[in-house]
Amino acid sequence: MPEDKWLSFKNIKHTMRVPYVIYADFECLTVPVYSCHPNSDKSYTEAYQKHEPISFSYYVASATGFLKAPFVYRGPNAPQVFMERMKIEAKTIQELYKNPLLMDPLTNDEQKAFQQANHCYLCQQVFTKENYKVRDHDHQTGKFRGTACNT
Ligand SMILES: [Zn+2]
Repeated sequence: MPEDKWLSFKNIKHTMRVPYVIYADFECLTVPVYSCHPNSDKSYTEAYQKHEPISFSYYVASATGFLKAPFVYRGPNAPQVFMERMKIEAKTIQELYKNPLLMDPLTNDEQKAFQQANHCYLCQQVFTKENYKVRDHDHQTGKFRGTACNT
């Protein structure tokens, strides 16, 4: 029998909202595919059309809403153009991470919540002298998120 027989959730980081999300959609033309008829004595899959990407649209969302207006493309090489756009968007987001914001001053309610907190809003551990409480804030918005462990 193992010593530690209890499992507990440890990946607190997976409970946090991701700061940026890109929502994308492709439109395709269904183009007929012509081929010879397969042997009907065996099971087979017959391709009769293929999806040809012709356009896409996406927008970048953050915790605070749209980062910028939706981007729409219709034309040749839509998948390649999409990949180039994603590289540009990734670089833009990477730049935003380079400049974390300082925490906004706490509102009266936030200050009160911080003072009254006796456990971490993320892992639920009770604060102690060693595991003292700190103010956790969103580095992209500067907003106070909650009272958390110091580790
Ligand atoms: Zn914690």
